[in-house]
Amino acid sequence: MSPFLDLPPLGAAQFAAIEDKVAALLHTTADVIITQGEALLPLEAAIRGAAHPGSTALNIVTGPYGQTFGNWLRDCGAEVVDLAVPFDSAVTAAQVAQALRAAPEIDFVSLVHAEAATGNTNPVAEIAAVVRAHGALLMLDAVASVAAEPLLTDAWGVDLCVIGGQKAMGGPAGVSAVSVSGRAWERIAANPAAPRRSYLSLLDWKERWTDAGRTVLPHAPAQLEMLALDACLDRIAADTLDATIARHRAAAAATRAGIRALGTLTPFVPADGHAAPVATTLRTPPGLDAAGLAAGLDPALPVQAGGGALAAGMLRVNHYGRNASPEVVQDCLTAFGEALLATGADADVPTATAAAAAAWRAAGGPTG
Ligand SMILES: *Cc1c(COP(=O)(O)O)cnc(C)c1O
Repeated sequence: MSPFLDLPPLGAAQFAAIEDKVAALLHTTADVIITQGEALLPLEAAIRGAAHPGSTALNIVTGPYGQTFGNWLRDCGAEVVDLAVPFDSAVTAAQVAQALRAAPEIDFVSLVHAEAATGNTNPVAEIAAVVRAHGALLMLDAVASVAAEPLLTDAWGVDLCVIGGQKAMGGPAGVSAVSVSGRAWERIAANPAAPRRSYLSLLDWKERWTDAGRTVLPHAPAQLEMLALDACLDRIAADTLDATIARHRAAAAATRAGIRALGTLTPFVPADGHAAPVATTLRTPPGLDAAGLAAGLDPALPVQAGGGALAAGMLRVNHYGRNASPEVVQDCLTAFGEALLATGADADVPTATAAAAAAWRAAGGPTG
């Protein structure tokens, strides 16, 4: 008998308890709305709730998700100022401050914390301080940073913090969540264009669920995904969030050190301080097709070619969730080395795996 069949509906008390665990994970006392869909759902809901004709948004583009947000913001009739930086670097708080000074009417800022697709991460604490001083609302896509690096929603002043379970949490992709600050609720409630009576409506959830005391669920929750989300929250709590973060940091450090020792491939994000703990992206040299190399690897390895225009020249090691382990990093380095040697390129596998092991230890990665 499959444990996934004939499930009883998830009760309101259980649903509320899972929301509370997400709030604890995000270090927030704000309302947390769990959304029944992949993380693009709350990201779109947050933007459609806050943006409207007459508002001006600063959209910080450090990878492909920033481009998506800009399209939604324009779709909502907002004026959009794009601040784009090369996808192999991070945006600085000084750049954000300059953009805000140049357009004082900006009242909303969208930012991605870590970008799994490009392997970079942004200094949210400093950026949020600048945004708060300006008085704008800050939406953060923390899907690829939650459980992989510190995420201090309230202390930093993030108004809308969006997460999904499928990256470092090692959980399901089918549910996601957004925390909504009091300021964000005021703004959404005052927005005549905010979705109502809609699957994208955060206000509907607030009125029918959160403000109603969380006793009656407005819709049947996706119980399978909710149970999986609950299980991964419990696992993070049991392992401790700090240890989960340390494991991801160590995986990134070990992969980067291993690749530098291996030769031929290089980290796509050159500066260690800009590299995301969730995934490491690699540049292949001209003439070496990344998609072809990835296609020849053991499909069990968490490696894929870059998306879209990056497919020819980028490899991505998704060392998140259970794959944030020293064994998986070693296996990826060995596989890269063998594939490179087969093409006639240089690769030093023993030096690479030794460098990765040393970097794992130096980064404080859990051992044993
Ligand atoms: C993975 C990720 C998401 C979720 O989107 P998918 O397209 O389903 O992977 C959203 N934002 C960021 C920054 C991500 O890395």
